[in-house]
Amino acid sequence: MRGPAVPPKALDARALAALAANPGCERRALLDGAGVDKAKLAGALGSPSAFGQSQFAFMRGNAFEARVKADGGAELLRLVHEKLDPGAEPPTAGAVPDLTAVGPEGRTARTALALREATAAGGWTLLDHPMLALDVAGSPAFLEPDAVVVHPDGSWTVVEIKSFPMLDGSADPAKVGAAARQSAVYVLALEEVAAHLGGPEGRAQDGVPAPEVRHRVLLVCPKDFSNLPTASAVDIRKQRAVTRRQLARLTRVEDIAAALPEGTCFSLDLPAADLTTAVESVPATYAPECLSACELAFHCRDRSRAQGAVTSLGRSLRAELGDLTTVTDVLAAAHGQAGDPDDPAVAALRRAATLRAEALGTREGDVCR
Ligand code: SF4
Repeated sequence: MRGPAVPPKALDARALAALAANPGCERRALLDGAGVDKAKLAGALGSPSAFGQSQFAFMRGNAFEARVKADGGAELLRLVHEKLDPGAEPPTAGAVPDLTAVGPEGRTARTALALREATAAGGWTLLDHPMLALDVAGSPAFLEPDAVVVHPDGSWTVVEIKSFPMLDGSADPAKVGAAARQSAVYVLALEEVAAHLGGPEGRAQDGVPAPEVRHRVLLVCPKDFSNLPTASAVDIRKQRAVTRRQLARLTRVEDIAAALPEGTCFSLDLPAADLTTAVESVPATYAPECLSACELAFHCRDRSRAQGAVTSLGRSLRAELGDLTTVTDVLAAAHGQAGDPDDPAVAALRRAATLRAEALGTREGDVCR
């Protein structure tokens, strides 16, 4: 569907967290499942996305991560010990296994082996950029957390390294929330690995105890305005539960594809009109939250506004309006031209329209234009 000889765009945890934030959108589920590059697609549709990190921010983030992981991850392991496992023996020289392998499948298998060996060995182990696989709506997604630490008791911790600052021990709540949602995806993927390593119902298998994936992750950020690392433990149980539920609800990609016209294709080589037709053939559920989560947001917002859909004004408003799904329906109901007067939403709209008319000293029929 993404076109001949076009390599698939890999799903990352950020994309999965966003996918889970809008589980009802078949368009996004299908395009992500088919490995379509949505940023390029948005450009080809004439509505380029405003996503992306500046080259400077990218380089600064990489330099900070390298600093955090320097000397075999000594500082990183110290932070994990201090914030999450102070009762364990302090890390002296943690193991850092080589996770090199060919292709994402090879790296995933290599990571699982390293986790198994580290769990059995005891002691501290740092897995630098491991590769994890998660089944998403019938398609495998390969995920690469910044690090996973294996504790001496065999439990595993996800580590997220971000370049936004932590001031006086706290960081921007919105950014911490996004990092927590992303980490929750990694935790779910790690739990799949743990389930394979452990025996039935989490019992020991081949002498290796079923590992525990910790639900408190370590968020590492620059301290104040310096380049020194500091860290905070973040409880992601809520994000994990929400993400798991949302991912389970995602419609399977095959089912969405089966409902499309024969030969539907999203190749960027197609003329813009054909590409638009193909994209519009897949149902979407636009909401303002898409603006911060999906590359196609400007395209979908334009379509949603053109259709007068009330969801373009927000999900909470949509929920309050019940059966009234378009702005035209809402105005007609408010003006008494349509709608059941016993419907609480219709009654509330008419009352609001009357109050507004009284306040403005206009006739009721002139309101809400
Ligand atoms: S922007 Fe469009 S494709 Fe993306 S999640 Fe929103 S509605 Fe779906």
